[in-house]
Amino acid sequence: MSCLMVERSGAVALKRSEQNAIQLCMLADGRLNTGHAGVLLVERRGSYPLIDLRILKTSAQQGEVEAGTRRKVKRQLSFQRYCQASRLLRGAMPNTTGSLHLLDENYLGQAAHMLSKVGTWNFDIFLFDRLTNGNSLVTLMCHLFNVYGLVHHFQLDMIKLHRFLGMVQDDYHSQNPYHNAVHAADVTQAMYCYLKEPKLAEQLSPLDMFLALMAAAAHDVDHPGVNQPFLIKTRHHLASLYQNTSVLESHHWRSTVGMLRESGLLSHLPADISQDIEQQLGSLILATDISRQNEFLSTFREHLDNQDLDLQLASHRHFILQIALKCADICNPCRVWELSRQWSERVCEEFYRQGDLERKFDMEVSPLCNQQADSVPAIQIGFISYIVEPLFDEWHRFTEPSPLSHTMMGHIHKNKASWSRLRYANTPSDTQAEEPEGGGGRGEVEGIS
Ligand SMILES: [Zn+2]
Repeated sequence: MSCLMVERSGAVALKRSEQNAIQLCMLADGRLNTGHAGVLLVERRGSYPLIDLRILKTSAQQGEVEAGTRRKVKRQLSFQRYCQASRLLRGAMPNTTGSLHLLDENYLGQAAHMLSKVGTWNFDIFLFDRLTNGNSLVTLMCHLFNVYGLVHHFQLDMIKLHRFLGMVQDDYHSQNPYHNAVHAADVTQAMYCYLKEPKLAEQLSPLDMFLALMAAAAHDVDHPGVNQPFLIKTRHHLASLYQNTSVLESHHWRSTVGMLRESGLLSHLPADISQDIEQQLGSLILATDISRQNEFLSTFREHLDNQDLDLQLASHRHFILQIALKCADICNPCRVWELSRQWSERVCEEFYRQGDLERKFDMEVSPLCNQQADSVPAIQIGFISYIVEPLFDEWHRFTEPSPLSHTMMGHIHKNKASWSRLRYANTPSDTQAEEPEGGGGRGEVEGIS
């Protein structure tokens, strides 16, 4: 049985082990023909649980890997079972399930109350994640699928849906300070807010809403917590698999396709529809590659200048969903300061960890990853100036502008001013005059996503 992976750039030969994995998926799927132009590579789940440090690994890091796995297992225990276990270990009477159940219900009651306000921009995803015991992504997606009637429309099997969402949530690395399942839930909540924009809401089909929410939920799945240049310079197998181009985004997409097939979520749909869904998910997820920002931004500007967007056309709606996902992915500076600041600190912590790793193995420390030289305020001011503001200026125009858009622009300006104050508060007075306006250069902040 011959097996080809068809990429945007053409067919690529695969290693035998990868061929076997794909053949299994294809046989299990039962609907794909070998050699068909629509055949996608699906990545086997768990093929690389953490960044592959085989060429770099030390015994200390092996310990970190094992600790990470233990934390993941612990997170999967429900709040109720976790309390029960710890009480039993302390010798407490086991007949306390009633009160524990009440406590669980109290938490879930608060989470349900939060869901009733899921469309508000100041939704606190960190609190929601705590109230759902680390299940924010699954809980949010199930809720939004019901809000939009997607379960009924696509005749989805709730067990398969739950299995798929559970796989997606679990394949995010909880030890990443930023690129974890809470970020995915945050992007999904932002996407929901954008789908409700009056300019868009009336034009969207159920398929549009399904794709937008699925892409938001899965757009960073299995993110290793390091960026593409790191994968390239450490000769990671994903970098060669995807030819050093949109390496992470391709992996997020192909992993999603693998989980869709493994869960059988779309197995009841005609083959051409499920293949179309897989392709469109890819197009949305690949749009989050920040190195393609200019390409999307100039096309968006052109459409707005020419006033030629026709949202009755599926292709134009798809383009707007790509833009909406890009906005949702980088909307942290548009949130209220208390939430925005937490995200900023988390993303910088992830950069610094990469920098520490690079330093430890005598590699050149990547831009923005040097904790001594790249402060959180400086990184954020550069990110807002060169990436966030240009995109949201155009989104603001597109929404004509909406109340939400006004709110977001207000937060961007306030947050940027707050970071500026913090930056100068931490800068010795004699060096302030030499600081360039706007933090790091554009080339540097492009590595931020
Ligand atoms: Zn993301």
